[in-house]
Amino acid sequence: MEENSPFVFSRDEIREKGGLKAVFKPEAAQFSDAIEKPGELKSLALTLEFFPDEKGAIILSGALEAELKLECYRCAGLFATRLKENFDEVYEDTVEYIDVREAVRETLVLLMPMKILCSDACKGCCQVCGSNRNAKTCSCQAPKQNPFAALNVVLKNPAPDTDNARHKRSKE
Ligand SMILES: [Zn+2]
Ligand SMILES: [Zn+2]
Repeated sequence: MEENSPFVFSRDEIREKGGLKAVFKPEAAQFSDAIEKPGELKSLALTLEFFPDEKGAIILSGALEAELKLECYRCAGLFATRLKENFDEVYEDTVEYIDVREAVRETLVLLMPMKILCSDACKGCCQVCGSNRNAKTCSCQAPKQNPFAALNVVLKNPAPDTDNARHKRSKE
């Protein structure tokens, strides 16, 4: 355990002081693995508050603010964004030195939205030429819907009651 790391806090010190607060901006690079490529963590700011509870455990109440570059779900363009999240953790009284790195990394992983857009108005990419339609307007025609496509679906998947209907009719 690296006791001099800015991420490591002494349980005894927190107890003696009745609480401890730390605000710092760690190197973003050491958490880069928490962000899926081609996304990128640009900077990170942490606010950590520790409190001892009556049973001897240490409660961490943390806040994280991340500056990120993320890939748009619709147009695949990279864009800058800022996300905030709070997190809580309880460290048992047996933990002498509290390392917050794991909690920070987990919070970053959970922070990533599954489907994030560069803007609500993102136009996505052209289905024909693949160009980013936010950047330029191409003159491609959208592919025409085949009018028989719907009919094909019906023919391939006959409605479940078709057989019954035929059956009834043959009985009559
Ligand atoms: Zn987009
Ligand atoms: Zn196009």
